Amino acid sequence: MIQGIGAAAGVAIGKAFVLPSWEWSLPDTQVNPVDLAQEFERLYEGIRTSKDEIEFIKKEFREVVGPEESSIFDAHLAILDDPVFMSEIRGIIERQYKAAEVAVKEAIDHFVAMFDLLDDEYMKERAVDIKDVGNRLLKHLLGAPEVTLPSDTQPYILVAKELSPSQLAHLNPVYVLGIVTMMGGKTSHSSIMARALGIPLVAGLENKIANPIQTGDMLAMDGDTGIVQLHPDEAAIQLYASRREKQQRKKEQLELLATVEAVTKDGVNLHLAGNISSVKELDMALKYGAEGVGLFRTEFLYMDRHSFPTEDEQFEVYKLVAEKVGGSTVVIRTLDIGGDKHLDYFQLPEEQNPFLGYRAIRISLDRKDLFKTQLSAILRASHYGNVKIMFPMISSVEEVQAANAVLNEVKQELDERDIPYNRSIPVGIMIEVPAAVMIADLLAEEVDFFSIGTNDLVQYVLAVDRMNEQIAHMYHPYHPAVLRMIRMTVQAARSAGIDVSVCGELAADERSLPLWLELGISNLSMSPQALLRVKHRTLNTLASDARETAKACFRYKTSLETEEVLGAFAGLNSAAKTAPTEQLPYSAK
Ligand code: PEP
Ligand code: MG
Repeated sequence: MIQGIGAAAGVAIGKAFVLPSWEWSLPDTQVNPVDLAQEFERLYEGIRTSKDEIEFIKKEFREVVGPEESSIFDAHLAILDDPVFMSEIRGIIERQYKAAEVAVKEAIDHFVAMFDLLDDEYMKERAVDIKDVGNRLLKHLLGAPEVTLPSDTQPYILVAKELSPSQLAHLNPVYVLGIVTMMGGKTSHSSIMARALGIPLVAGLENKIANPIQTGDMLAMDGDTGIVQLHPDEAAIQLYASRREKQQRKKEQLELLATVEAVTKDGVNLHLAGNISSVKELDMALKYGAEGVGLFRTEFLYMDRHSFPTEDEQFEVYKLVAEKVGGSTVVIRTLDIGGDKHLDYFQLPEEQNPFLGYRAIRISLDRKDLFKTQLSAILRASHYGNVKIMFPMISSVEEVQAANAVLNEVKQELDERDIPYNRSIPVGIMIEVPAAVMIADLLAEEVDFFSIGTNDLVQYVLAVDRMNEQIAHMYHPYHPAVLRMIRMTVQAARSAGIDVSVCGELAADERSLPLWLELGISNLSMSPQALLRVKHRTLNTLASDARETAKACFRYKTSLETEEVLGAFAGLNSAAKTAPTEQLPYSAK
């Protein structure tokens, strides 16, 4: 029995497929000084191709898994633009007359060795990213084929020294029963991605195995406990097989809930909607029983293209989404770029603090042309379904009034064009900035609904960058300050008689359910993968008990106490540390 690190939940049993590692050994090829320009062109061509490829993988992965996980590939794109990395490569070519691939290999080795020396998991993870990107670039410079995985054989457990995000993005969960890696840990990008894909993963086996695992070896693995068994005996095989079957059954049972209403044991009804960023994600949300769309992140319509989408292009998508959800509601959020989200064709300024900078509604109000195009498309779609508009990142009453004034202008223009739309389309705002919470009573006079965006609210209340892995341990959605902010928002909405819902990922954490029941929030919107799990929890919850538990949570001094108590209430304390966005129904207990 080998003890590794349980990095993605679930058990697997099957034969190993050992991934050959991408270790290049290259001859020290030199270039003639007169051919330097040509060598640089070869390098740039390789970089361009690599970027295109990463963009493609990112897009595919985003559609299958979601925006948070796919942003890992932004880090890869950034490496190809990194001035230090690139000038190292250029310097080797220019000063030592080495071939582009030799320069790339030497630069990778240099940076990887440097990061590996640091005693910091986060930095070590950057070394994996550099190697991944560097290998991709080498592959193009050398014209080498991709390492291919078997896909026409029996399902297998993939064994690798380390698995890069690009390799993982290509895996087909149908064939890959589980993953075992020698390197890595819980926070590595590959582990995050494996959790999102629902593939069990055990990491960190380096130096723990006497004989290397060979392709064809029988393996049993448990992604919860981190245990791997090489050549398990018949009894262990039976045990793992029956545990896996049980997991599969649970997954199938959960899927049966798609058409069941989300109602607590004592009759409190919840509306569970989906957060989507594409029509493909809507399909997944509907498959998992979403009651409409509580958050349509429209910025993804603007990405992976070379220019802004036209009004008609946007209209077609909004209309399709509105029609697909039938009579249910679709909350379309206006463009929320800036911060961590960028468009290739729209140059945002270099900023010291992009999350506090030019983003979301601030851009829309500055670029009225873009804003009006989008509002016009949304209004036109409102004729075909139950559409609501939502403005992101609101921090003042003036912003709402300004946004509403633009909306009125667009309505007038549609009237002049004789185009039908819902004249009383509901307009709401995201509550995700502390200022908005503090003036929620004033904002409530301007809008029809609030939707609490806990992802940003947590980062702004706690001053913890949601993208910074180094301080990820400080990102506490159950911090008393966050809970108080949520409660204040609900109280303001209630006094003003407007709707309030939650669309941040806290809603996807089934432990949070008692909080919503206590606060009287019945509309929750979350990533599609979380819907069935939260519904299952709802069906098994007595609202009266949940409320008692939640009341105590509003009195605790620390997030840890709240997490413990809510985890215990949900019977989930061992899984409590897994981030909610990273769980698929497969991993539901
Ligand atoms: C939020 O901030 O909670 C939210 C739902 O929006 P996004 O994650 O797109 O910033
Ligand atoms: Mg947000």
